[in-house]
Amino acid sequence: MRIGQGYDVHRLVPGRKLILGGVEIPFELGLLGHSDADVLTHAVMDALLGAAGLGDIGQHFPDGDPAYAGADSLVLLEQVGAKLAAAGWRLGNLDATVIAQRPRLAPYLPKMRDNLAAALSAASEQINVKATTEEGLGFTGAGQGVAAQTVALLLPWDG
Ligand code: MG
Repeated sequence: MRIGQGYDVHRLVPGRKLILGGVEIPFELGLLGHSDADVLTHAVMDALLGAAGLGDIGQHFPDGDPAYAGADSLVLLEQVGAKLAAAGWRLGNLDATVIAQRPRLAPYLPKMRDNLAAALSAASEQINVKATTEEGLGFTGAGQGVAAQTVALLLPWDG
C-alpha cells in the first residue's frame, strides 16, 4: 500500500464562488484561482498523486494552461482517478480536513464526500471530509483564505 498527503490554500476574495468538494456554498466571498479554486479537491488530488508517486496537480494541470481556466476540479479529480488506475492503483481511503473560519461547513460535508466519491468511482465510505476553524488564528482564522489537508491510502488493483 502507499500513502500520500496533500495541502492547498486559496485566498478568499469578493466576486468569486466558494466551491468546496464540488459544492457551491452561499457566502459573501469565494476562492481565487485559475480553476474553480476548489481547495479541498486540490488537496485530495495532491494526496492521491503523491501516494502514487505521480508528482502534483501543478504538473498534470498547469496553472498557466488556458485549458484549465475556470475548470471544474471534480472533472480534474476524475482524470486523476484514471491516472491512478492506469498506474495500477485504487483508492483504499482518504481523509480530508477543510480549515476555514467561516462559513459553517458542517451542513455541506456529506455532499462533498459524495461528490469526491463519485469522481473517483469509489464508495462514500472510503472518504471522510471534516472541517475545522483555527480559533481566529493565522490567515485562515482571519478569514483571508481557506486551507485543506488530505491523507490518502492507495492499494494495488490486484491486492
Ligand atoms: Mg489549488
